Amino acid sequence: MGAHMTPTHDQLLALDRRHLWHPFTQMQVWPDDDPLIIAAAEGNYLVDDRGQRYLDGVSSLWVNVHGHRHPVIDNAIRAQLGRVAHSTLLGLTSEPAITLAARLAHVAPPGLSRVFYSDSGSTAVEIAVKMAYQYWRQRGRPEKQRFVALAEAYHGDTVGSVSIGGMELFHERFRDLLFPVERIPTPYAYRWQGDGDCGAWCLAQAEKLFAQKNHTLAALVIEPLVQGAAGMLMQPPGFLARLAALCNKHDVLLICDEVATGFGRTGTLFAVEQENVRPDFLCLAKGITGGYLPLAATLTTDAVYEAFLGTVADKRTFFHGHTYTGNPLACAAANANLDVFEQERTLERIQPIIATLARQLRSVEAMPHVGEVRQRGLMVGIELVRDRKTKAEYAYGDRLGHRVCLALRKRGILLRPLGNVIVLMPPLSLTSDEAKTLCTAVFEAIDEVCGK
Ligand SMILES: *Cc1c(COP(=O)(O)O)cnc(C)c1O
Repeated sequence: MGAHMTPTHDQLLALDRRHLWHPFTQMQVWPDDDPLIIAAAEGNYLVDDRGQRYLDGVSSLWVNVHGHRHPVIDNAIRAQLGRVAHSTLLGLTSEPAITLAARLAHVAPPGLSRVFYSDSGSTAVEIAVKMAYQYWRQRGRPEKQRFVALAEAYHGDTVGSVSIGGMELFHERFRDLLFPVERIPTPYAYRWQGDGDCGAWCLAQAEKLFAQKNHTLAALVIEPLVQGAAGMLMQPPGFLARLAALCNKHDVLLICDEVATGFGRTGTLFAVEQENVRPDFLCLAKGITGGYLPLAATLTTDAVYEAFLGTVADKRTFFHGHTYTGNPLACAAANANLDVFEQERTLERIQPIIATLARQLRSVEAMPHVGEVRQRGLMVGIELVRDRKTKAEYAYGDRLGHRVCLALRKRGILLRPLGNVIVLMPPLSLTSDEAKTLCTAVFEAIDEVCGK
């Protein structure tokens, strides 16, 4: 096909089948679902090449914040494009990268004054892990090199972040490639089978681990408040603060991965604010550019930063960097994203929307094949079960979550499930009416697919 011809829908799909390999996708069944070709977008809606509009119910995989084609962000990128699209941070610097670093340090929890850029959530976490490791070596404590993470953790797909991750389905097959990590059980109260309080038990396990191994521990890595990819698992109140206190007591660094929870998703700009936690590292990506361009940031403290200072000959440098680090177009988008938070008072605006969503979800919660509805801010997980009484799960291969999402597509809504958990993570620009439409459609789709 020549570059000058506009391919038809069928030609595009044929080329997709021939040449594309989609992420987290069994490509053998990919064509069965009649894939949509997204051609445009407007606000909270995506538009396919046939002109069908769909509510973007998972924010284009957890990234979009203020809606698509927001004029403030569009214009900021255009303006930057008129100056320079890319220059490097290796040996040079740039205005968008400088401004954004200062602004991130300003809006982040106190103490996080240093910003190291990269391109994805995985690299943001990988960087925090390498920095923490090198930090202890350069502080004369090289024995502190073990990481602690939660059992169902997800921190990205590069080998380092997969090592920190603990999701059996995604990570087990790579085990021999990975470095060993200490585990704290995930407070997944719905499937907790022990006696007493699930969260308290998990914390007791953490305390035991820290007491035994504190001298070998470099850092705890955690998704604060919500474990997203694990199925929108919500930590009980106080859980994060208790772990932070444990880190403090045992001289273990705290790495908070807010790649998913950052930029308002949980109702505050960052999830750690809700427990007054001040981590040593804050990992940001996904929503940082408003969902426009790939960019990530690893924030850290002066104390960590200073451990890397010395003469060139000392070789205490952090020898790490990605070629597109601090890309000016992406930084311009991220600055505009923060502008919109200020101009539209986004965090105030979403509070009633969060409440509407909670109200509307009550009828979903009562459905015969819904085990639990979990919500924190605008992050929602609806766990489908074969049997509500026994909590028996649907078989993975039956793809119930996927089928519910296909039923939603017919109703003009795009979602992407996590196994049998239906995920809602709408943009912060969702309206109250859209929240109602979304919940009604979810109710109908679950009813259609799961029945009585
Ligand atoms: C998505 C995600 C990542 C990985 O981000 P990528 O940009 O996909 O590499 C890491 N941590 C958390 C908590 C995430 O949700």
